Amino acid sequence: MPRAIEILDATVRQLERGEMTALEAIDALLVEELTLRENRRVKTALVMARLSTIKTLAGFDFSFQPSLDKNRIMVLAELKFVDRAEVLHLVGPPGTGKSHLSLALGVEAVKAGRSVYFTTLADLVGALAKAERDGSLREKIRFFCRFALLIVDEIGYLPVIPGGGNLFFQLVNARYEKGAMILTSNRGFAEWGDLFGDPVVATALLDRLLHHAIVIQIEGSSYRLRQHADLVPEHIRSKALIQPQPLTPQPKRRGRPPKHGGVDHANG
Ligand code: ADP
Ligand code: MG
Repeated sequence: MPRAIEILDATVRQLERGEMTALEAIDALLVEELTLRENRRVKTALVMARLSTIKTLAGFDFSFQPSLDKNRIMVLAELKFVDRAEVLHLVGPPGTGKSHLSLALGVEAVKAGRSVYFTTLADLVGALAKAERDGSLREKIRFFCRFALLIVDEIGYLPVIPGGGNLFFQLVNARYEKGAMILTSNRGFAEWGDLFGDPVVATALLDRLLHHAIVIQIEGSSYRLRQHADLVPEHIRSKALIQPQPLTPQPKRRGRPPKHGGVDHANG
């Protein structure tokens, strides 16, 4: 009991001075020790869960996002959806707090002792594709099925690699009704066919992912741009930055290619 030993001297002195009873001293030592152990457990579990950027519900300004019902989020933080192996969809434009909320709910789940894993769709599909090449797809799927809550962030920012939809489907199917998920996306479900490059796979995915599902749509402006909104021209603010770009390639315009600009989608 390293922490208890650390504070033993001070506690004994308090005991000698009659500032606490023997029972209180034992209680104080045990509480210190348990708190330290609990903090360590949470710290390790957060690293294991890949919840690298720690976001909290306390740090979320609900007044900035009036379309979002705070109560609904607080009920989700009670984690019944995790125990019921449901799927929570957070859908909305960039910067509206989808990643923040998914991370914060992940932190709540870790604190409550649930196993959690956070990843982006691109990383998840990349890991599955690599496992398939190595002949270890079954093991990889089993790995991702171990977690009570799997958080898949950033669905829709990057095109899914060929065959990626199929791999994601295999995982979703393996977790179906067994483990909870949080999915964040800047795309409506109608766009999943384009997103996964395969309407059949997209339909099968949505069939699983919308059964026992909670859909939270955030319709607001970007928190990232809140201080600079006045610097962004209105037509860009409302179209290019707030609304998702079309997935399907646009007809090529003649002349010079447009300079790259706008939102850093990979970081969405
Ligand atoms: P999204 O994933 O929807 O693109 P993020 O969750 O990454 O947006 O939010 C972008 C940044 O703004 C993050 O640093 C996040 O913590 C912060 N943020 C977003 N919405 C809020 C909010 N309502 N209150 C406090 N911080 C917010
Ligand atoms: Mg995000």
